[in-house]
Amino acid sequence: MDNDCLFCRIVAGEIPATVVHETPTTLAFRDIDPKAPVHVLVIPKTHHRDVVALAADPGAAADVLAASAAVAEAEGLTGDGFRLIFNTGSHGGQEVFHVHAHVVGGRPLGPMVAR
Ligand code: AMP
Repeated sequence: MDNDCLFCRIVAGEIPATVVHETPTTLAFRDIDPKAPVHVLVIPKTHHRDVVALAADPGAAADVLAASAAVAEAEGLTGDGFRLIFNTGSHGGQEVFHVHAHVVGGRPLGPMVAR
């Protein structure tokens, strides 16, 4: 655990979150500032800075993907579809440096990125 990391502190129960799914290795909770009717963050419980670091831990990466799919299913998104986003680094707009998959859906989401 990184004591300076917001999401590590959520995993530790030090900061509250609305948890919607949990496995031994992952946690999923609602984004505090949702950008769509469904906006859930899926994280590995272990600290990885970003998706590049997560990719070096294939077991954790697979667990995050499986949990993301389970959240999408539980939130009723698999019929009409949804978006799974890993913002990475400054150009990617990453603000919290504990890797997280955004599961976003519940309405048409428009273009993938702004031009
Ligand atoms: P990113 O820009 O990809 O790093 O996304 C960080 C996300 O974390 C943003 O969508 C924030 O709204 C969200 N966020 C920040 N603090 C919290 C929190 N305490 N609980 C839930 N979501 C949070």
